[in-house]
Amino acid sequence: MSLPDPALVVLVGASGSGKSTWAAAHYRAEEVASSDTLRGIVGSGPHDLDASTDAFALLESIVTARLGRRLTTVVDTLGFDPARRLGWLALARAAGLPGVVVVLETPDAECRRRNASRDRPVPASVLAGQLRRSREVAGELDGEGWDVVLRVAAEGAPPVPAVETARAAEHRTASTGVEVLLHVSRFPWGEEPMTWLRDIALAADEAGFAGLSLMDHLIQIPQVGRVWDPIPEPWVALGAIAAQGTSLRLGTLCTPVTFRPPGITAKAAATLSALTGGRAFLGIGAGWWEREHAAFGLPFPSAPERLDELEYSIRAMRALWAPGTKAYASDGVFLPETTCYPRPSAPVQVLVGGGGELRTLRIAAELGDACNLTTSDPAVLRHKVEVLRRHCADVGRDPSEVAVTVLDLPVVGRDRDDVWRRVEALRGRTAAATFAARTHAGTVAEHRDRHARLAALGVSQVFLSTPDLAGPEDVLALAGLTT
Ligand code: GDP
Ligand code: MG
Repeated sequence: MSLPDPALVVLVGASGSGKSTWAAAHYRAEEVASSDTLRGIVGSGPHDLDASTDAFALLESIVTARLGRRLTTVVDTLGFDPARRLGWLALARAAGLPGVVVVLETPDAECRRRNASRDRPVPASVLAGQLRRSREVAGELDGEGWDVVLRVAAEGAPPVPAVETARAAEHRTASTGVEVLLHVSRFPWGEEPMTWLRDIALAADEAGFAGLSLMDHLIQIPQVGRVWDPIPEPWVALGAIAAQGTSLRLGTLCTPVTFRPPGITAKAAATLSALTGGRAFLGIGAGWWEREHAAFGLPFPSAPERLDELEYSIRAMRALWAPGTKAYASDGVFLPETTCYPRPSAPVQVLVGGGGELRTLRIAAELGDACNLTTSDPAVLRHKVEVLRRHCADVGRDPSEVAVTVLDLPVVGRDRDDVWRRVEALRGRTAAATFAARTHAGTVAEHRDRHARLAALGVSQVFLSTPDLAGPEDVLALAGLTT
């Protein structure tokens, strides 16, 4: 920036637009005539409005005296009064100095934010009036005969937009009849974990997915990757994703009940719900991988004990999410109080992971909002759904209250060539035909047909996880499955 010097420099902008800061950055303190500073000199402080008349009289004297000596003079007031502006310009002209006006074009929201964080904020209604007036003034200046009209955009950090946490979950059921959520189990994020997570979440939102789930394991599982591949703590990662302002429902698939005491999981899910305006869900299961428990010093009880724990945990979490703070004592769960704030902003969908017919599906029928099956084989699926329905009848639960969801692990390609290229790259030592059949390898169109068949079997949500998902472009390539 190169402004004429010496010159008259008149600042224009609402409170908090950064006039004094800009002046201090470009001029010596003695060159700046500030109405606030002068109020502080002749009154009790910069905000002493009773001192305004005296302060402005002084300001006029200072401007007149300095311009008369052909000294650079910066006028730091709101700058909204056209008669005053033209008076100063006339003084400059009389002294043979150029007249510069500097408009601080800081966004309204940023002015409000800065004003609110001041010790003595201008009342909100006053600031609103100033912001309106500053837009009018911007149009008046061009006709006033200034030598330079400089418009200054907000400097420094760009204003941080509010995260739209209150965005409601949208119902994004595809025309195939199922809602498709992206399940992320591998994290090839290189050196930029946060960038990668953000890009995946934004791509999932853009591609029309109804939600995003993260796998919950302490060590990357052999089915997905290598033990030294990164596998983040999912509630921390979901908190970061929650800050990206999407409409995605967010949760884990599935949290082993053995990892965290149920109250801590309830707390995490309730917090995520509060942060997202009610878009949190919780997949929970009995856990299965002994190694990660041993490695992290966690007990790994027998399967029947873990299933008992699953049942106990869901009851305890539901008690903690329920209104009120009363004690809870029922079915072997005893909590002396249920004080858990923040409460979830909307009911947290509980998906019970696993297809165990004797107990897991019974727990889903009795306590879950959904079961989550890891098969998308039609014959197996039909049978599991029958078992679930029978448990519902046994425990007196309306089967329409227990959704059938599946974890779907397909290979998806752009066309036939791309499908086979992927199968070849992924199959390892498994025969190509076997691997292709197991992963339903096919194009988006073929998977749409398959999803429609799943819907016909009663499946309402598909958690889609492709084995070669590396970045956001792979997510966007799946968009055809969500419409
Ligand atoms: P005035 O009321 O227009 O004189 O505004 P000030 O210059 O007093 O600035 C108001 C607040 O905004 C102060 O806390 C400044 O530190 C801050 N501020 C001013 N200009 C900038 C800027 O360019 N960037 C940032 N990040 N903050 C600024
Ligand atoms: Mg100021």
